[in-house]
Amino acid sequence: MSVTEKIFQWLNRVPPRVLRAAEKTMRAVPGVDARMEQEYARMLGDLEPALKPYARDFSAYTQLPPTGVDRAVILEEMEALNARERAKWQDGFVSGAVYHGDAAHIDFLNRVYALHSQSNPLHADVFPSTSKFEAEIVSMTAHLLGANASNEIVGTVTSGGTESILLAMKTYRDWARDKKGITAPEIIAPVSAHAAFDKAAQYFNLKLVRIPLRDDMRADVDAARRALSQNTIALIGSAPCFPYGVIDPIPELSDLAREHGIGFHTDACLGGFVLPFAEKLGYPVPPYDFRVPGVTSLSADTHKYGYAAKGTSVILYRGRALRHYQYYTATDWSGGLYFSPTFAGSRPGALSATAWAAMVSMGENGYLDATRKILETATKIKNGIREISELKILGDPLWVIAFASETLDIYKVMDAMTKRGWSLNGLHRPPAVHIALTLRHTQENFAERFVSDLRDAVEYVKAHPAEKGELAPVYGLAANLPLRGVVSDLLKRYMDVLYKV
Ligand SMILES: *Cc1c(COP(=O)(O)O)cnc(C)c1O
Repeated sequence: MSVTEKIFQWLNRVPPRVLRAAEKTMRAVPGVDARMEQEYARMLGDLEPALKPYARDFSAYTQLPPTGVDRAVILEEMEALNARERAKWQDGFVSGAVYHGDAAHIDFLNRVYALHSQSNPLHADVFPSTSKFEAEIVSMTAHLLGANASNEIVGTVTSGGTESILLAMKTYRDWARDKKGITAPEIIAPVSAHAAFDKAAQYFNLKLVRIPLRDDMRADVDAARRALSQNTIALIGSAPCFPYGVIDPIPELSDLAREHGIGFHTDACLGGFVLPFAEKLGYPVPPYDFRVPGVTSLSADTHKYGYAAKGTSVILYRGRALRHYQYYTATDWSGGLYFSPTFAGSRPGALSATAWAAMVSMGENGYLDATRKILETATKIKNGIREISELKILGDPLWVIAFASETLDIYKVMDAMTKRGWSLNGLHRPPAVHIALTLRHTQENFAERFVSDLRDAVEYVKAHPAEKGELAPVYGLAANLPLRGVVSDLLKRYMDVLYKV
């Protein structure tokens, strides 16, 4: 069961009176009362065994061992940990998470990593190979996403989709302050845009205005128009969005941005290494990249469908002038002249090396093949879901497929899938479940197994209407109760548990 599910379950168990009191107190003074502390403790106590499964079988180091442990012993222990976790993702029961995962591909990336494990792009003079890799990653990505002889698409390698998004938002903030004198910047994003935009708003003091979706789960362009103000610095659309896998109306949204003289960011973290190939394969892909004139930046994750190791993404800009607002320079530091293109100082050059090697070894053919397999699996799954009359697919997705039900409690269906070994994502507002298909899911008979389990799950829920289900009541509660304070507090305590030895 996922953390969200546990939390919802827990919210459902704590008496509403206690929750409401805690929420109210939290707004008045930080901290909660003794009863609430008890509830938190019980909740986190329940979660801890699942989060710390090795506590019993492996020793823990709270301090440095006085003398170093033998390397062979360490390796043996780490191999044992790895072995315990492999099956879950390898066999394709998880939505998203591991995007390639074939043994030969992993071995190749590991060898590349080993070759470059000492490299640091901060020292370009010592490791010029890293700048070669990064420049080529950016160029290859740009050419997939609409760069041509008549535009200038540039960018940098970052540590992941979140950093790409944070950097783009910081760039627009600094650009708008410099060029337009905007000091109370606002950004506009559909409700389906990634949480990283909220994070950017918090970190950089931006006001994030969320706009609603239409029935097809794509952003409402009229709402975007109404949300524009003198302080808007950028508009955002996803290609596709994480919850529903659908592509926002990027041409319309980015035209609005262009008319208004502001930036437009396409979040193609998920789609950047799928959509170009889907288009070549003849799937219907609406415009979303730099071929659309109003698009001024775009994020694409090499560490998702680029099939690199975790820890890299690409942020692209239309023109070097915009990219300059991302860069950092310090000219009067006693440590000398200092500059860095992204948030980090020192960076893992080995990860850029693996991203480069993944791209070059896949080649256009490799990506076309992978995309074909994923989309064919998706078609089978969508057809299978459409044959289950109780379920309905939200929007018209390509390979990230969300489904809901008008007659059944969809969370009960998800519960029944969890019992069958599946790890799917619960969505709320509206209640739905999704699966993000990866190469792991293109294994023999996967689609058939998924659809057959889903059909069984639906039948089970229909046959057991009295069974309460574990999540059903709580998702409803979470959508209705104003418990942001309590839930946010709980999530912070959850992260504390992660850092507990
Ligand atoms: C995964 C994802 C992100 C964030 O990427 P991270 O690599 O997890 O930081 C942003 N947007 C979309 C649409 C995504 O799917």
